[in-house]
Amino acid sequence: LSVFSLCSPSHNTRKESTVLNRLHIGHSHLTHSFILRKEEVPVCVACDVVLTVKHILIECADLLEIRKKYFEEKSLYSLFRNVIPEVIFDFLREIGVFYKI
Ligand SMILES: [Zn+2]
Repeated sequence: LSVFSLCSPSHNTRKESTVLNRLHIGHSHLTHSFILRKEEVPVCVACDVVLTVKHILIECADLLEIRKKYFEEKSLYSLFRNVIPEVIFDFLREIGVFYKI
């Protein structure tokens, strides 16, 4: 039994557990693969700011309409505290980044 399986509910798929872990540490393929690829820092085109996990889950004004169907948390702390992972996954699926996390 690994540390990660202790942290994640057993009904989550392996992919979901991976996504959840990456959201928690704020280090995802979507926001960090540029380092390995030696590319420019990814930006949110709509907001013209550096793309981060926090930007997607909390800040992005362009995603506001979709996001508020799922949650309206003001910080990652309250998000992970108050919103079940399945709801976060559904939001990520709707905006099309679940498999990019
Ligand atoms: Zn944005």
